[in-house]
Amino acid sequence: MNNTFTMAGVMGWPVAHSRSPAIHNHWIRQYNLNGAYGLFPVNPNHLEAAIRGIQALGLAGCNITIPHKVEAMKFMDWVDPLAQRMGAINTIVVQPDGTLHGFNNDGFGFLESLHEAQPGWHAGAGPTVILGAGGAARAIVVSLMDAGATEIRLLNRTRSKADELAQEFGTPVAAYDWSERHEALTGAALLINTTNQGMHGQPALDIELTQLPTTALVSDAIYIPLETSLLATARLRGNTTVNGLGMLLHQARPAFRAWFGVMPEVTPELHQAIIKTF
Ligand code: NAP
Repeated sequence: MNNTFTMAGVMGWPVAHSRSPAIHNHWIRQYNLNGAYGLFPVNPNHLEAAIRGIQALGLAGCNITIPHKVEAMKFMDWVDPLAQRMGAINTIVVQPDGTLHGFNNDGFGFLESLHEAQPGWHAGAGPTVILGAGGAARAIVVSLMDAGATEIRLLNRTRSKADELAQEFGTPVAAYDWSERHEALTGAALLINTTNQGMHGQPALDIELTQLPTTALVSDAIYIPLETSLLATARLRGNTTVNGLGMLLHQARPAFRAWFGVMPEVTPELHQAIIKTF
């Protein structure tokens, strides 16, 4: 252990529910590092001042979560091109010269969670169906396109948002009407729920899986509960399923490496430690 004390944290509003401190502090202990990761409840009216304070306080950087992911980009000295395409940042890294660089690791976390659940999975395996067109969907669309997806069928309750994304990204993204979500599963190799439907306190996602091949991978960005009704139904008919916990754990890895200098691993112990917090 050296004498340098490294501090990072997460800014959100509210932020008390965030599992990021449990994840990063687990790794700080695991790798015997000298540092800490805290929670920063930042009122949207104070976001600029809080972000300017990151460097002034000597933090290595910060995660950015809801509702600040889009707004925080304005206060960066440089934004990674991938994050620019995703339209949001979730990580700030203070550079040696004090400038602030913004990144988005949500897409990385998502892809890693699929590789973890199904080694050998590849984006070009067949059509992908994405339900939802919010922030998580944007990050996932960009990461799947970069990974070689050939067809992405995007369906959102508010059709215009799916149309906007399809227009912005072009081929391979095509928007369909929310009412077509059951038929859109025909021949799909991957189904992803990025809506909030099925989350603790929300109704189950209303979808009929009959048309979905049983070989398709079924992923839900939700991690509370760990098994949504979508995942339970998919598992019972033989589909391999992936919950949102892997995405959450893996997105934290590149940020931890940037701040603490170690690319951490997602271990069964980490999974268990975070599940205990639910
Ligand atoms: P968001 O930007 O607010 O998007 C919410 C999405 O849910 C929109 O597409 C919205 O459709 C849809 N929706 C809301 N109510 C609906 C309903 N009754 N029926 C159908 N669709 C409905 O949120 P987000 O940041 O993308 O997050 C979406 C989900 O992903 C959340 O469950 C979140 O917890 C999860 N997430 C997980 C991770 C992870 O690390 N595992 C990371 C980010 C997000 P409209 O456009 O019609 O409103």
